[in-house]
Amino acid sequence: MKPLKELTRPNIWNLAPYSCARHEYAGKQAKAFLDANENPYNSPLNRYPDPLQDKLKARVSAIKGVPVENIFLGNGSDEAIDLAFRCFTNPCKDNVVAIEPTYGMYRVCADINDVEYRPVLLNDKYQMSADALLRACDDHTKIIWLCSPNNPTGNLLDRKEIIHVLTEFDGLVVVDEAYSDFSQGKPLRYDLAEYPNMIVLNTMSKAWACAGIRLGMAYASKEIIDIFNKVKYPYNINILTQEKALEVLKDPFQIDDWIKMLVMERYRMVEAFKMLPICEEVYPSDANFFLAKMTDAQAIYDYLANKGIIVRNRTNVALCHNCLRITIGTRTENMELLSALRQYE
Ligand SMILES: *Cc1c(COP(=O)(O)O)cnc(C)c1O
Repeated sequence: MKPLKELTRPNIWNLAPYSCARHEYAGKQAKAFLDANENPYNSPLNRYPDPLQDKLKARVSAIKGVPVENIFLGNGSDEAIDLAFRCFTNPCKDNVVAIEPTYGMYRVCADINDVEYRPVLLNDKYQMSADALLRACDDHTKIIWLCSPNNPTGNLLDRKEIIHVLTEFDGLVVVDEAYSDFSQGKPLRYDLAEYPNMIVLNTMSKAWACAGIRLGMAYASKEIIDIFNKVKYPYNINILTQEKALEVLKDPFQIDDWIKMLVMERYRMVEAFKMLPICEEVYPSDANFFLAKMTDAQAIYDYLANKGIIVRNRTNVALCHNCLRITIGTRTENMELLSALRQYE
């Protein structure tokens, strides 16, 4: 790996971060908070939230097995994705490499930051080739974007290939593990200490069933996390989100139950789809959705939408011609989808 200083945008490396009132005081006992121009009424919403979310990070650390100093919390994983671009790429000069197809936000953030985006096609099994990704890199490639289990394809990427990229690439490698809770595969977040150039993403939006509160995690070396913390908005996670997240994380067993039910339903749905005459192929999934190749994705999408059942039409995505992406819902919702598809002609 190149020295982090070389990978960081020079203005960001030299940035003196905003110093907020709550940060300076940091945890000492106090009788009166007269430092931040807050209104003394309307507690607790009158107070600024903890800028580094210590309590919440301690909880996430315990559940995810990642040390607190290696955790960044963002307004959704989307904040961490954007920060990776803003901290480590120079607009109009650097580029990033990514598997294709994958999650759309990597390209959107590249475009917003005016950074060249180099997609590298997966093979017909939706697997990546480390060598193909490395061949797409040059001296100005700062980040390689991987997503496992991948979206919209649903499959885990081959671990050996990911490790090959991590060891051979001299820039940063992001591994988005938004869906790892639905998979039996060993998450890469446990190997952070081994790969100082790795950034792993998690989110509360999927297995933890909290897309509405907007909370995402990035795990990386302390040096990388410190740079994220320097650049983020000082109070990026609001009080309501921090409190709600703590409440949900009190009961991880509830989350395990949801995951078990969704994985069971996924299995059932995949088997049922294989029997549908209008379904040509179902791709293996390690996520809470699956991708299915249909006879005519657009017509089936329209038919379902007319019945009030909304799935994701991915037919215009690379390697996904005529594919629908189906999220696993409740048993009732899944049954409704199946019975509608059985009546399709
Ligand atoms: C859904 C999803 C996310 C979640 O993003 P949030 O901003 O945390 O809601 C992240 N990565 C991938 C690949 C996803 O599919």
